[in-house]
Amino acid sequence: MPKDFLKHAKDEYDVIVIGSGLAGLTAANMLGRGGLSVLLLEQHYKLGGMATWFRRSGGHIFDVSLHGFPVGMIKSCRRYWNSEIADSIVQLKGIRFDNPMFSLTTTFNREDFTRLLTGQFNVPAENIAAFFDAARAMNFYDDQRTTTGELFEKHFPGREDVIRLLMEPITYANGSTLEDPAVSYGIVFSNFMSKGVYTFVGGTDRLIGLMTGELERSGVDVCIRSDVEKIIVQRGRVRGVQVGSRTIKARAVVSNSNLVTTIFQLVGEEHFDRDFIDEARAVRLNNSSCQVYMAFKPGVMIDESQGDLLFSSTAPLFRTEALLSRDITSRTFSFYYPRTRPGTDRCMVVSSTNARHEDWADLPEEEYEASKRDLVKTTLDALEKYIPNAREIIVHAEASTPRTFQHYTRHAQGASFGTKFEGLAVSRALPQQITGLLHAGSVGIIMSGWLGAINYGVIVANDVESLLMKDELCPAKKS
Ligand SMILES: Cc1cc2nc3c(=O)[nH]c(=O)nc-3n(C[C@H](O)[C@H](O)[C@H](O)COP(=O)(O)OP(=O)(O)OC[C@H]3O[C@@H](n4cnc5c(N)ncnc54)[C@H](O)[C@@H]3O)c2cc1C
Repeated sequence: MPKDFLKHAKDEYDVIVIGSGLAGLTAANMLGRGGLSVLLLEQHYKLGGMATWFRRSGGHIFDVSLHGFPVGMIKSCRRYWNSEIADSIVQLKGIRFDNPMFSLTTTFNREDFTRLLTGQFNVPAENIAAFFDAARAMNFYDDQRTTTGELFEKHFPGREDVIRLLMEPITYANGSTLEDPAVSYGIVFSNFMSKGVYTFVGGTDRLIGLMTGELERSGVDVCIRSDVEKIIVQRGRVRGVQVGSRTIKARAVVSNSNLVTTIFQLVGEEHFDRDFIDEARAVRLNNSSCQVYMAFKPGVMIDESQGDLLFSSTAPLFRTEALLSRDITSRTFSFYYPRTRPGTDRCMVVSSTNARHEDWADLPEEEYEASKRDLVKTTLDALEKYIPNAREIIVHAEASTPRTFQHYTRHAQGASFGTKFEGLAVSRALPQQITGLLHAGSVGIIMSGWLGAINYGVIVANDVESLLMKDELCPAKKS
């Protein structure tokens, strides 16, 4: 008989959270801690969503999205998770750029960027200060018509090299482009610039393990392999979910599934106002990614002068289009040393490239597999510029594509960072459409990435608490 993954789920909860990405996990943890009864349903066999890892024979463990996040993660993890998680976050100090316009190493913070921009790029200090101050002062309620390209043109007219330094890592980090609103760039860039780029010691597997323990302490019921098919809505109010053969009731449902999927598949457009549906239809998904995962022979150490993150490109100029092209010219290499995964004797490199789902979606199986092999080959070629004997010391290499991300997380088009900017307003407006329905997950560039997703989970958990507090149907809190 197939295993019943919902065996321990009750028939009714205060809140059901659909999906265990970092936003879903954090929302569930906060709500459980607050004394509400919470059920977390995840369709995959692992928790974490895009914050994931996988093992290969020989003992290699690859992190998929642990490349770097801003210092704010320490505070968020301490407040909303625990100090063991927060204390495991450390800075990555070796961030490198290598492209036809410049090669440099930086600690990726305001001080060091100011040093580079004045020294290597000859930009007047007052222009740099004005740019940093303008970026840091931005918030979501600001003018959303100014684009990132216009922001750069104002402060660094005609300086394609400066724009490349300031923009290329953020485009990799969340797919944002020069045409996106400047606020989305300014907020994310300033988060990084405050103190640099950070990582989690022990890898994503350890992080999700610690979070799972914390969920248990918060009293959250967790069911994996539980694919929610429908969010049940009656008379403008959420009633629960349909999962497998079960209907489980809830006063509130937080969907961590992709925003577009939540509206059009899990709920159904008939439950929303026409204007809202028009707005939701206009939401663009963010781009997806390709990655190549490479493991070095046990005991073979890569020289740490390679740095932690290397933004490499052979494209003469920075162009968003070129970053998305199947004809790959730009790659971000993440180097993993035993230092950040204590107890292992091996190094890994993961190469990440932005990608379009449509370039991979309809390839016949044979062509798809051949394209993946080609991706591995061209990536090894590119890596050999930095590690000339890479092929001799790499013992495992494999590729993932937008199809892989779609398969594992159900994100429409394998979107790595949810939706473009306009998704945030639609996500926030859901509870006005359907009482008790909320969305927490990567949207709008600002609320994506590890830090953005965790913080959005907290915001939405607070919304759920106040909503249920107002609701006379809400049972008294447990404690
Ligand atoms: C290649 C790559 C590299 C990245 N690198 C970085 C990085 O270096 N730094 C950084 O900060 N961010 C990075 N990110 C982005 C970051 O990982 C994500 O923005 C973040 O983890 C997303 O969290 P989320 O809460 O939005 O949910 P997701 O991680 O998208 O998870 C959603 C979850 O919902 C589940 N689900 C969906 N539908 C259902 C359903 N019907 N029933 C049950 N469960 C369902 C899915 O299985 C999944 O577990 C990267 C992403 C990718 C793909």
